[in-house]
Amino acid sequence: MKARNPRTGEEDYEFAESSREDIAAEAARLRAAQPAWEALGPDGRAAVLSKFADAVEAAAPQIAAALTIDTGRSAVAWIEVDGLARNLRKWAARGPELFAGLDCHPQPSLTPGVEIVADYAAYPLFGAIAPWNFPVILSHIDAVPALMAGSAALVKPSEVTPRFAEPMREVLAQVPELPLSYVMGGPEVGQALIEEVDYICFTGSTGTGRKVAEAAARQLIPANLELGGKDPMIITASADPEWAAGVALRSSIVATGQACQSIERVYVAREIAEPFLAALAEAARAVEITYPDPSSGHLGPFIFPAQAGKVQAQIDDATAKGARVLAGGTVETLGGGKYLRPTVLADVAPEMTVMREETFGPVIPVTVFDDLDVAISQANDTEYGLSAAVLAGSLEEAAEVGSRLEAGAISLQDGALTSMVGDATNHSRKASGLGPSRMGDEGMMRFLRRRALIRQTGDAMTIAAYAEGQS
Ligand code: NAD
Repeated sequence: MKARNPRTGEEDYEFAESSREDIAAEAARLRAAQPAWEALGPDGRAAVLSKFADAVEAAAPQIAAALTIDTGRSAVAWIEVDGLARNLRKWAARGPELFAGLDCHPQPSLTPGVEIVADYAAYPLFGAIAPWNFPVILSHIDAVPALMAGSAALVKPSEVTPRFAEPMREVLAQVPELPLSYVMGGPEVGQALIEEVDYICFTGSTGTGRKVAEAAARQLIPANLELGGKDPMIITASADPEWAAGVALRSSIVATGQACQSIERVYVAREIAEPFLAALAEAARAVEITYPDPSSGHLGPFIFPAQAGKVQAQIDDATAKGARVLAGGTVETLGGGKYLRPTVLADVAPEMTVMREETFGPVIPVTVFDDLDVAISQANDTEYGLSAAVLAGSLEEAAEVGSRLEAGAISLQDGALTSMVGDATNHSRKASGLGPSRMGDEGMMRFLRRRALIRQTGDAMTIAAYAEGQS
């Protein structure tokens, strides 16, 4: 298979697609290694995860270099590699504490004479299917707590961003006791992976998530789905408009807007709309793309070129229906890469595609509201429910508005905080996801199956208890 370089548009990287046989063989190898891994115990596994973190940190320049080509951005590539090491250290510290807190003492049952003892065992083989927007972070975000729980882990990165797997395999070779490996390829490899594993975590689009859920249902395995979003931000009349403009801009355009938790709709109170829009447009125009010098500027190219066409079509649909472009607005092809400067749209209407479908680009459609209740109901009028944000004059006011938003995580007095905060347990709503939280302690606990040992401490009944005609 070939992968495209997002800065040049050229297919300059070739990699071997895993065959069905490769995937089955890798799954069998990991299954064989898993009992010894689980038998290491929480402290033993934590020690190996820490060793892996050291090796990732030592190889950070090589991993970040490959990831920089995968994604066309360097600063975020370094943040991702650092994020993987921090994720490993977090679970190496928290995992043993969670195991120590498990209550395995006999508990009385509601059934007289019976006691229950719980024991815990990990799903043997965990599988992950990852998207291209944060390739390193999202390939490992669920695999690390699964490994800490005692599972072996088989991961499929996106075929759009495969380069980082090569240096990561070299790192893994230094930690041979860790049962983690990668299979490479597209949708067919994803489907074959689901057939091999006992638990699947998928991060990607809602459409693919449905296919993954169907395949998991055929296998009768649990599927955790982390899907798309159309996150709203509400800015009330008491908010400072210049501050709000800065927060809204950053929350919408970081990583060229290619983040699930990007703010994709802004609702601002009429009282502050004018200065807010002026400040937002000015700040948006000051943002620079990372072309021609990749080491300066803020916004890199679109990682997946087809995404640029989708985003432009949404902007064109909005302007054809009456939206005004206050900044940006046109995808530029520069040196073979596709770039879009931050795009601020005013006079948008709920029926425009930019207000209904996930954009996944640096586009900020702004709706001015007169009635907060109407704004809240418009913010909730979406098929998605990933996250949301509220900016107000006080934290109390923001919290009150936030409690009325239908999403898994609400940032108050900031935006898109889920990208920075890993311990906020949350459950996505509607078409944004399914299953337990990947954040917080649940992130590991979901991989432990509980077995009930049910002890009869009295006399076991005989068939005589079921004889007819006794009552
Ligand atoms: P995608 O759904 O196109 O692909 C994701 C992964 O699924 C890739 O590895 C792909 O090869 C694989 N795949 C595709 N078809 C498959 C099939 N039929 N069976 C099994 N696997 C299959 O998503 P993408 O375009 O790579 O990523 C962008 C999307 O991911 C956006 O919608 C974004 O919101 C979402 N996302 C969600 C989160 C979250 O935590 N909720 C985080 C990041 C990205």
